[in-house]
Amino acid sequence: MSKITMTTPLVEMDGDEMTRILWKMIKDELLLPFIDLKTEYYDLGLEERNRTNDQVTVDSANATKKYGVAVKCATITPNAARMTEYNLKEMWKSPNGTIRAMLDGTVFRAPIVVKGIEPNVKTWEKPITIARHAYGDVYKASEMKVPGPGKAELVFTAEDGTIVRELIHNFTGAGVLQGQHNLDDSIESFAHSCFKYALDTKQDLWFATKDTISKKYDHTFKDIFQDVFEKNYKDAFEKAGIEYFYTLIDDAVARVMKSKGGFIWACKNYDGDVMSDMISSAFGSLAMMTSVLVSPHGYYEYEAAHGTVQRHYYKHLKGEETSTNSVATIFAWTGALRKRGELDKNQALCEFADKLEAACLKTIESGKMTKDLALITTIENPVVLNSENFIKAIRTELEASLS
Ligand code: NAD
Repeated sequence: MSKITMTTPLVEMDGDEMTRILWKMIKDELLLPFIDLKTEYYDLGLEERNRTNDQVTVDSANATKKYGVAVKCATITPNAARMTEYNLKEMWKSPNGTIRAMLDGTVFRAPIVVKGIEPNVKTWEKPITIARHAYGDVYKASEMKVPGPGKAELVFTAEDGTIVRELIHNFTGAGVLQGQHNLDDSIESFAHSCFKYALDTKQDLWFATKDTISKKYDHTFKDIFQDVFEKNYKDAFEKAGIEYFYTLIDDAVARVMKSKGGFIWACKNYDGDVMSDMISSAFGSLAMMTSVLVSPHGYYEYEAAHGTVQRHYYKHLKGEETSTNSVATIFAWTGALRKRGELDKNQALCEFADKLEAACLKTIESGKMTKDLALITTIENPVVLNSENFIKAIRTELEASLS
């Protein structure tokens, strides 16, 4: 069988710990035997980030701007313990944060739905994708403890010296204060990423805020979304047969719980923070969540939503057997390969991505899975495989579908 060829390279961002071990296994077993894989490789493992003063992260984000599509392995975000463990020169920032800031993107997280791992919400048949606006609001707020009686005001001083004041509250006793902000540009970028991704994946887009209570702040989000939609995406949505649906956040939550799934839910920063954890745990497992960063400029970066699975890595280092779930990392690869295929009009690459995903699902549905899934599956007497044998079982299914 001849290998599938590629015209443009993918940006490959290697990572840390157990996911780095899986990364190599996935390439060796599931990609290199079938694809003449073209990648531009960046090692975002913590040692290399430390050696290059984190330049490698910046270089990998610039390469993503050049080629358009990247696939990333989970990486360590250093904390005090990692400073000692890796003898770091500095507490380097989260690579995801650096890359997101450079590409100006929105992160879309979606569960991988498979028979045998049933969502806790009975009506959910299809994945619900969460898009979180990753700028501002409570995450960039100024806060104050009010010691006692006094007047609190919002004061805006324009560049020309004009002053605008708004009373917050006349305090008669102690209390707390918070000042939040957001930027029209950032909300617009978020809206573009959401509408683009809805078209890409042919799914409806839902958006919700509390605009009835927050008549200026949240209402601005609602207005910008509506404006961006009408000016740029309305016709394309009609052609694609998909809908943009705006409602209040409380109504959205109620509807989500009774829905069948199969749509994208765009959330303000805090809502997205809270709801993405609710969605991932209700769909079954963190190890079955994919994540893609979509920039309004048309760059895509695919990864698993989980971390480096540190505990399994330490077992692996001691020579003990691990049963780490590689599905989300495999889906990061298939997402990137499919997008590369779409951009390059490489049908064979898109079909390979579809077949590899199907092979993962078939393996689990046949009762072969890793321990994390065996603990929650509705399939009787599942066969628990170790990290390597699970990937080999997927390869067997993949080879059968390719032949
Ligand atoms: P983690 O996602 O690695 O693990 C959280 C829990 O989920 C653990 O109990 C783990 O056993 C389980 N789990 C996660 N993925 C699994 C898989 N594929 N198979 C089986 N079980 C799985 O998160 P953590 O322990 O909080 O963080 C470990 C490291 O990962 C940290 O250094 C953190 O900085 C990093 N991290 C990176 C990313 C990223 O690169 N996107 C995201 C989160 C955490």
